[in-house]
Amino acid sequence: MNIPEQLRQIRNQLPASVTLVAVSKTQAAEVIMEAYQCGQYIFGENRVQELLAKQAVLPPDIRWHLIGHLQTNKVKFIAPFIAMIQSVDSLRLLREIDKEAARNHRIIPCLLEFHIASEETKFGLDLSEAEDLLLSAEYRDMKHVRIDGVMGMASFSDDRELVGQEFSYLVSVFETLKHKFFPGRDHFREISMGMSSDYELAVSLGSTMVRIGSSLFGSR
Ligand SMILES: *Cc1c(COP(=O)(O)O)cnc(C)c1O
Repeated sequence: MNIPEQLRQIRNQLPASVTLVAVSKTQAAEVIMEAYQCGQYIFGENRVQELLAKQAVLPPDIRWHLIGHLQTNKVKFIAPFIAMIQSVDSLRLLREIDKEAARNHRIIPCLLEFHIASEETKFGLDLSEAEDLLLSAEYRDMKHVRIDGVMGMASFSDDRELVGQEFSYLVSVFETLKHKFFPGRDHFREISMGMSSDYELAVSLGSTMVRIGSSLFGSR
């Protein structure tokens, strides 16, 4: 892959307001460095061990996003530096993030992950679970997490209509939560949706953050 050229093409297709998260899972540190040298500073990883190995050898101003399922016992390893945890899917996980963020004197930005795909296997909350979480006294007492929006993965399908419906559903979830729980709170602004195969559709439907791996780095 010609990373500078791929990056240029992807950026050309994104409105300036949309954040590009370069999904670097399985890619070597040298490959990440190539994108970094083109001004790409936000990278997404889905495994804690792999993220730690890369974070240790790459520039400290990289902003790492955790985009994959996170086990509570691994939160402590990433809490010192993680820029955003996009895959919050339980109150239990959020509690652990809050605790470890406090130990590191940080506020960790998080997204609530929603299950929007028709496939069974994907992680994520549904709307009523998210509302229960946000209504809980425990969440309201948390001082070291900040919920900045929502994240979702559409079905792995070339049915554009289906994928579009799933993205639109995530936008409606975002609007509902914004209205009910975050009115006037400017930080609650992110709708993280869209990957290599579907980011143009996602952006046309309101994505503010796309997570792109294979279109940038080549297939894994
Ligand atoms: C791997 C991954 C991506 C990127 O997928 P590509 O198809 O390679 O662009 C985006 N989001 C999540 C959660 C992922 O695990």
